Formats: sequence, C-alpha cells, structure tokens
Amino acid sequence: MEQIIRIAVQKSGRLSDDSLSLIKECGIKFYNGTGKLKSTSTNFPIEFLFLRDDDIPGYVADGVADLGIVGENELVEKDKEVVTLKKLGFSKCRLSLAIPKGQEYTGVSYFEGKNIATSYPKILGDYLKKVNISAAIHEISGSVEIAPSIGLAEGICDIVSSGSTLMMNGLKEVEEIFKSEAVLIANKDLVDWKKAIVDKLLFRMNAVQKGKSNKYVLLNAPNESLEKIISLIPGMRSPTILPLAQPGWSSVHSVLQEDQFWENIEELRAAGAEGILVVPIEKMII
Ligand code: ATP
Ligand code: MG
Repeated sequence: MEQIIRIAVQKSGRLSDDSLSLIKECGIKFYNGTGKLKSTSTNFPIEFLFLRDDDIPGYVADGVADLGIVGENELVEKDKEVVTLKKLGFSKCRLSLAIPKGQEYTGVSYFEGKNIATSYPKILGDYLKKVNISAAIHEISGSVEIAPSIGLAEGICDIVSSGSTLMMNGLKEVEEIFKSEAVLIANKDLVDWKKAIVDKLLFRMNAVQKGKSNKYVLLNAPNESLEKIISLIPGMRSPTILPLAQPGWSSVHSVLQEDQFWENIEELRAAGAEGILVVPIEKMII
C-alpha cells in the first residue's frame, strides 16, 4: 500500500484560505477544484479531505484523518481526544458573552438564572461552572445573535472578531470567555511511518512560520561601530560582515525578529548605521 497521510481541512469558510496557503507555502502541490471533497498532492505523500469544520476533530480522533486544521473553539467544544501539534496563528477570534445594548451590565452575576443562547454549550457550560453561575444554556446551531430579539434568551455566547455583527443586532460584548486560533491536530495513535511524514510536514511549517516572523537586515556602517552594531543585531549564528568599496566601511547582514528590529532601530542609527534594508524571508531553517 502506498504510504500516504490524510489531512482534514475546512471545505469553505474562515479557516480554508489560510489553511491551504500554509500548505502551499510548505511546497506541497495539489489540485483544489471547487466542490471536490478529496484531493491528493502531486509532490508530497498527503491526501486532503475537505470537510465542515465541525466534523474535523471527530474525523481525526477516529483516525479517518491523521491530521486536521481546526479552530481551538471547535476543538474544545467537540471534546475529542486528539493531540494538538501546533498553533498556526490565523483565524484568531474569541468567544464572548453579549447582552442587549440597552441593558445595564453589572458583572457576570447578571447571567444568574438567565437564558443564554449559544452554539458552544460545552465551552459556555465550563465557563459558567468556573465562575459559579447557574444559567440555562440554549443550544442553537446558527444565527445566535437574533436570540435576544426574538425572546429566546436574555444573552448570547458567540464568536466575535470585530464586534460588528453584535452591534448590528443591538447587542454589546460584556465578557470574553475563550480565545481561539487555528491549530494543527493529529490522531493520538499514529504509526511510525505516518509520524515520519508528519514530522516532515511540521519541519516545513516551522520553517515557513519562522520566516514570517523574521526579517533579513542589511546595513552599512563605519568599521569603528561594528562591535556595537553586532551586539544589537546578533543574528542566527553571527552577522555577515563584508567590506564596502569605500575604505573604513562595511556592510552588515543579519537575521532578526521583526519586533526586535524596531526596538533596536534608534540605537543602530545612533551607532552610525545607514542604508538599512529590511527584506522578508520566505523560509528559515536553523
Ligand atoms: P462550516 O461550514 O465548515 O461548519 P462554520 O460556518 O462553522 O463553517 P466559519 O464561520 O467558517 O465556520 O469559521 C470557522 C472557524 O474560523 C471558527 O470556528 C473560528 O475558529 C474561526 N473564526 C470564526 N469567525 C472568525 C472571524 N470573524 N475571524 C477570524 N476567525 C474566525
Ligand atoms: Mg462549523
């Protein structure tokens, strides 16, 4: 049998584009025609299953898929036994409690004895237990925001990113109860040959992620300030120093986390650095 692993990704929705871009940036090619439910890569031993995100944790737990990309909200809500391999940094959102705009919010005790509509009964139930509030949870699968205006509930618990959906429905966010981003999950009993393929994929994903958060920095500096500049931008092992055609000057090349660069920019300039270029890195293997 051909040795190939299966990954479940969302068919279409807020996880799909970033999931597929990440896989492409890992150099994995595949055909993703509209309406296709399955596809095999032409250059990496991986097959894709395109599913609703609700089904991904279950498919991975059952071993129908070896890997999956899903939001932590869906993962925790479904409560399946899988291994989280990596946070992926996209599809960031939060689950929050919201109430009608006109109501005065007095703290979480507001919800005592109230009805709350949500698609996340487990996460909400765990939260209410933690803060010691008893409220009735009404599980509905979509359009949660309209529940208060139709008299189903006094509050809701739903995904918020900008808050504009809440506002349009006359609601205000009052408590954030869960933070979520996309994660890579795996079946917990992968056989060794599958683990080896997963490790290859993880290696590539790490290289892509590292590349994104780091920049290649080039600058010119007078030789007498090189020592100071090297201490500010130490790089991976150490910076590359190349002489400029003009005597007494050098070009310094280094790799830096982007935020580190901004922290050091004034000191670099004060030390005499000029002609500073910051260039994106596609992949980074240390
Ligand atoms: P499906 O049809 O696959 O069940 P869905 O409608 O349940 O899709 P989407 O709205 O596509 O789900 O959201 C998928 C995931 O993306 C959510 O579970 C959440 O983790 C994340 N997400 C949701 N809303 C946002 C948002 N506004 N911004 C960023 N990420 C979000
Ligand atoms: Mg869904």
